[in-house]
Amino acid sequence: VFAHIVQAPEDPILGVTVAYNKDPSPIKMNLGVGAYRTEEGKPVVLNAVRKAEQLLVNDVSRVKEYLPIVGLAEFNKLSAKLILGADSPAIQQNRVTTVQCLSGTGSLRVGGEFLAKHYHERTILIPQPTWGNHIKVFNLSGLNVKFYRYYDPETRGLNFQGLLEDFESAPSGSIVLLHACAHNPTGVDPTPDQWDQIKQLIRSKSLLPFFDSAYQGFASGSLDADAQPIRMFAADGGELLVAQSYAKNMGLYGERVGALTIVCKAADVASRVESQLKLVIRPMYSNPPIHGASIVATILRDRNLYDEWTVELKAMADRIISMRQQLFDAIQSRGTPGDWSHIIKQIGMFTFTGLNSQQVAFMTKEYHIYMTSDGRISMAGLSSRTVPHLADAIHAAVTG
Ligand code: PMP
Repeated sequence: VFAHIVQAPEDPILGVTVAYNKDPSPIKMNLGVGAYRTEEGKPVVLNAVRKAEQLLVNDVSRVKEYLPIVGLAEFNKLSAKLILGADSPAIQQNRVTTVQCLSGTGSLRVGGEFLAKHYHERTILIPQPTWGNHIKVFNLSGLNVKFYRYYDPETRGLNFQGLLEDFESAPSGSIVLLHACAHNPTGVDPTPDQWDQIKQLIRSKSLLPFFDSAYQGFASGSLDADAQPIRMFAADGGELLVAQSYAKNMGLYGERVGALTIVCKAADVASRVESQLKLVIRPMYSNPPIHGASIVATILRDRNLYDEWTVELKAMADRIISMRQQLFDAIQSRGTPGDWSHIIKQIGMFTFTGLNSQQVAFMTKEYHIYMTSDGRISMAGLSSRTVPHLADAIHAAVTG
């Protein structure tokens, strides 16, 4: 009965690692997947996470019972505080519901399914380009995915005019997906002034903002600064959704820990929304896993662990920023034609190099450098040792 099934293509992002793993070359580099690596190219478990896990292991009163459908209550509370701010009026007024979900992806999916079931407008606008999984997640949630203009390849910056025009002409009430910071894949974020204009337009057109926050603290090194756009929207008392991930900022990739927060206009609405979120979650995976959420709650509740975490987070962000400078300098010193200043201007884990798919294929074949075909490279996969090899490859791809 299954003989007719055709081979599915590899995931465009995770498939890069599959190809990388097959390459026997000792000089190969994987700049595809967005996971942090140390200067030595190794994955890292943060000290704050190790200590939290030790506390959890030592506590013999802890059991492995099921969590409620919405997850660990303390984790949810602390996650809302982390993203909306400790003094958030929306939290104080109980207008917020937060449910623990399976990392950022699961939070987006639960939010998407909830909106498809209960919100009056099915259109969701997502940026062009965006993280590839957004399209599939929202389509399969039952929403109609449309794009808004975001990136301008000419300036390698934001197409702000195009964005405003597309929001202006969207059906009233449309959902708009916004990357909270460190836009993936472009590394291009609106300025605070532009955010303000975006907010005014969204509110005046009654569009519904759905923030994807996969990099809080990872962009600038400051948890508060990276949450600013979200807090600005929450400050006017209007509704919003936010999908939070702890994959990058706590390095908890495989623990699949994240949260969906929905800010409502009144406490009774938030409570009814939560009751419906439970109906979305229960038939999907019943309830979320306990370990990752317990690690996060342990760190967020303890002043010392929290401080240690923020120092480690800043160090990761700073290493990425320093890789940008080193790569830029290396390309400059080779005299590679073109303006490469976008490498130091872009924000977050990725550089959108502007290299085309033929140049990427050339770099993979000749230099054993692996990245997505849109020319996105993960800066977190680079080190001082590997920068020269990448700069050589870029120079050859551009001049060859
Ligand atoms: N959104 C964006 C923009 C991302 O880059 C990612 C991770 N690559 C995610 C969401 C989701 O990641 P996760 O499910 O691992 O939290």
